[in-house]
Amino acid sequence: MPDTPALMSGWVHIGGAVVLLLMVFLIRSYQQRIDEVRRLGSDLAQCDRELQVRQADCEQIITARREMEAALHEQQEFFRLIAESIGEHIAVLDLQGRRVYNSPSYRQFFGNARQLPGTDSFADVHPDDRERVRRVFYETVQTGVGQEIEYRLIRHDGSVRYMASVGKVIQDKDGQAVRVIVVAHDITDRKQAEQWERIAATAFESQQGMFITDAAGVILRVNQAFTEITGYSAEECIGQTPKLLSSGRHDAAFYAAIRHSLERQGSWQGEIWNRRKNAEIFPEWLTISAVTNNEGRVTHYVSTLADISLRKAAQEEIQQLAFYDALTRLPNRRLLQDRLRTAMAASARSGRQGALLFIDLDNFKTLNDTLGHDMGDCLLQQVAKRLLACVRDRDTVARLGGDEFVVMLADLDKQPQEAATQSRIVGEKILAALNRPYDLAGSEYHNTPSVGITLFGSQQDAVDELMKRADLAMYDAKATGRNTYRFFDPQMQAVVTARAALERDFREALQRQELFLCYQPQVDRAGRIVGAEALVRWRHPQRGLVSPAEFIALAEETGLILPLGLWVLETACAQTTVWAAQAGREEFTVSVNVSARQLRQPNFVEQVLGVLAKTAANPRNLKLELTESMLLDNVQEIIAKMTVLKKHGVGFSLDDFGTGYSSLSYLKRLPLDQLKIDRSFVRDLLSDPNDEAIARTIVALASNLGLEVIAEGVEGVEQRDVLATQGCHTYQGYLFSRPLPLAEFEAFLQAH
Ligand code: C2E
Ligand code: CA
Ligand code: CA
Repeated sequence: MPDTPALMSGWVHIGGAVVLLLMVFLIRSYQQRIDEVRRLGSDLAQCDRELQVRQADCEQIITARREMEAALHEQQEFFRLIAESIGEHIAVLDLQGRRVYNSPSYRQFFGNARQLPGTDSFADVHPDDRERVRRVFYETVQTGVGQEIEYRLIRHDGSVRYMASVGKVIQDKDGQAVRVIVVAHDITDRKQAEQWERIAATAFESQQGMFITDAAGVILRVNQAFTEITGYSAEECIGQTPKLLSSGRHDAAFYAAIRHSLERQGSWQGEIWNRRKNAEIFPEWLTISAVTNNEGRVTHYVSTLADISLRKAAQEEIQQLAFYDALTRLPNRRLLQDRLRTAMAASARSGRQGALLFIDLDNFKTLNDTLGHDMGDCLLQQVAKRLLACVRDRDTVARLGGDEFVVMLADLDKQPQEAATQSRIVGEKILAALNRPYDLAGSEYHNTPSVGITLFGSQQDAVDELMKRADLAMYDAKATGRNTYRFFDPQMQAVVTARAALERDFREALQRQELFLCYQPQVDRAGRIVGAEALVRWRHPQRGLVSPAEFIALAEETGLILPLGLWVLETACAQTTVWAAQAGREEFTVSVNVSARQLRQPNFVEQVLGVLAKTAANPRNLKLELTESMLLDNVQEIIAKMTVLKKHGVGFSLDDFGTGYSSLSYLKRLPLDQLKIDRSFVRDLLSDPNDEAIARTIVALASNLGLEVIAEGVEGVEQRDVLATQGCHTYQGYLFSRPLPLAEFEAFLQAH
């Protein structure tokens, strides 16, 4: 108030009272103002105080806020670290599913492309799964309850991954949903493994039978197809080994080859015969694969088997059509030619002969024309059956067509003449079989065949050439008057015809008493007759004396050797009894030849003992001659038989010694008394140093083994002398005498 003193001085000059009044008024109001100011001052102080208080408050608030900010940051950092360090991917979405935050691992997982906040997170879900994911998301938002969901996600590079995620709703303080936090992880590997498992399971339950074993071959698992194929349920075979299925058709070598292949290559496949539960044997195609672990050790085997019986049957059906005659089911021309080629090659290798028999029915055309084709077919089928019954398993019966059949015989004798006889016997069998009446729809029918025969052996003929020969021979048989057989080779035919006649005659020789024994003396160093070999002879009514060389083999083939051998034994034993009773002949021995077939008879020992008893012969006067070839099979059994007879005193000589294959080891085991040096060595003793050496060796061998030795076929004095210097002191041969009929032999005995 700077104006107040100026106003007062003006009032003094102008008017006192007014001035005074004014002054009072002014003072008063001044006073009032002062009061007012004073009041204001105190108010101000009050305000100041309050301000100070407020300021303090403010500072407190600022501090608190800073603390809060720090705590929030810490929390955020904490949250970020958690989100980054756990394996899961974390996304925070708004309530429409738009991105608010993606954890770094999630961003990296997506391919590190920027995932802008505010973009639609559903856009990354595979279109096929998108709706479902969206629905679950909104349900979660609505209910506040998160649920686990699996879906496919497409990454920025386009790759598809399987995810599993669960959403949690974040609420504000009023309980209002504000955000959704999603925790997701990649389950692609698990999903793929599951898928593989499903594929494997589906594959395992395929059409093929499958089973899995452990390394030891114990079955762990089988599939349904396996059960259907084998008939064994899973329970029945788990814990067993595949031996359960073994058919017994394969040998140990077969299974060993499988094991070998598994060891070497880790797998095997091939055809195998197995047995079903119902005992039926069936062919299967089996594949076995080894499963190995990281170290390469086998842990399991997976086997797949396919029943190929049907395929095989079809194959066989095709084979049937291609190689077999539909009417008779016999091999056709093609198969026959095939087999013939094989047989010829085998024959060239082994030296064994084979034969081809061409068979044609006589008057078949008439039957066809008069009774019709059905009857013709019926006849052909019966012929086929009968032909099969005439041959061995390894032979082939084929039908060429019409009424033409061919029989192929393999593995016949090495000697063409013997082989001819064998095929002739089959030819005769066929003739007899096809001559029997046939039953054609209830009525009896007669038919005959004509048979042409040709042999094949070491010479390499063409298949066609052979067939032609057999065919020609068959025509020859027709020309000869049918119902007969003919050999292609006329010489062979002659031999065979003669032998056939001989055989027929020989069958009767025994009854007709045309057989008799000759005796050939056996002489010691001093010229004394110590024994004789009994040799059979046949006085043929027309042909005169027939040598055993001609009929013994025949007798062997026909089995007639058995009655013949028995007769020889009986006759010879009866004779020993006579001679042994004569003064000075107590030791006189008779040697009797025994054939292989005789010796093989199970009751041979009883037979010999029976004859000895019947003829009252002393076993010591009997010597049985065996040949080496007889001893080749079943030595054990032969030794047993010889041992029994030997105990009774019967002696044994090994005939034709040196021509066989005797090994020293079993010579020692045989209970022999004598070795008989074969005629062939004696024959060339003087001219062939080899034979001389052989003879000497045999003598030395006999003396080593403690056996007697005799030389057969001694024809000259020089031979005998050489043998004597070698140490052989018993002889048999023309030098002393030919084999003589009984009367002459006895005369010979008297003279010596
Ligand atoms: P083998 O047992 O080797 O009989 C000896 C053969 O040599 C006899 O022939 C005999 O006549 C003949 N031979 C004897 N000394 C001489 C000689 O100095 N020079 C020549 N070149 N030959 C001589 P054979 O009687 O014709 O008998 C032949 C074969 O028939 C016998 O050979 C024998 O294996 C068999 N055989 C004879 N009789 C019988 C028998 O009763 N039963 C059996 N199973 N076979 C018999
Ligand atoms: Ca003999
Ligand atoms: Ca001999």
